[in-house]
Amino acid sequence: MDRLIHATAADGTVRVISAVTTGIVAEATRRHGTSPTVSAALGRMLTGTLLLGSTIKEFDRLTVKIDCSGEVGGITAEATNRGTVRGFVKNPIAEPPPKPNGKFDVSGIVGEGNFVVIREAGSEIGFRPEPYVGSVPIVSGEIAEDFAYYLAKSEQIPSAVLLGVLLQNTEPFVAASGGVLIQMMPGANDHIVTMIEDTVSRSPHVTEMVKEGAGPEDLARVALGVVHFEVLEEKPVSFACTCSLEKASAMIAALGGAEVQSMIEEESGAVMNCGFCNETFSLATSDLENILEENR
Ligand code: ZN
Repeated sequence: MDRLIHATAADGTVRVISAVTTGIVAEATRRHGTSPTVSAALGRMLTGTLLLGSTIKEFDRLTVKIDCSGEVGGITAEATNRGTVRGFVKNPIAEPPPKPNGKFDVSGIVGEGNFVVIREAGSEIGFRPEPYVGSVPIVSGEIAEDFAYYLAKSEQIPSAVLLGVLLQNTEPFVAASGGVLIQMMPGANDHIVTMIEDTVSRSPHVTEMVKEGAGPEDLARVALGVVHFEVLEEKPVSFACTCSLEKASAMIAALGGAEVQSMIEEESGAVMNCGFCNETFSLATSDLENILEENR
């Protein structure tokens, strides 16, 4: 089961969030039928958004978007503070040749564009306040660096971010996925910051560790090196969408009686697809007739 932890280090001046997200990324990539390189890109986005999303308040929603010119066209991920995340890409089948070092060319399919973070307070309980939107140019396209750049530039929080997805040739195609987000809060000692940055830059591939069974505590330990940390909270995390047959029916009803009538006569039913999770909802003619009846 996927898990996330919150930890603190250096007398509370360093915040550490880490997670194992293998199941989340396996489900998202299966649902969207993504190519290997897009799977890596979407998996990193989902993991980074989940880590950052775990710092928001209850009922708030965090959306991270990459609007880009590369072949993937755009990536969107959305998280709640309850440990759920969902996401999608514009073009799931982009697949360039690997980089000379054999790695997936994630920055190659992302290209140039903007990294956008949207924070909506209370949106999970129906509030619709003005969202807070922060945006920075894409500096790397490898995604972890873009999260770190955004946090430093737009939110003035020096951060180190590690995100990794390991794929394999057999099902489930996602062998391991995980990430670590380290944030230096006001008062963080420069010496500690340098030490952590140095450790993170030399960290071994977190995904190999996850594949061998490492948990979020192990990822935090590797990222922090000799810096001692204390775990404050632990929670299960999962891929979850907010769509449902009821919501799909409500959307059809909102189209109005004339439109629903024409669906019955001309299309003998209706099919709706959720962009976030690729779930399809089919409504038969009898369902549409019920909708007409209920809204008469
Ligand atoms: Zn959905």
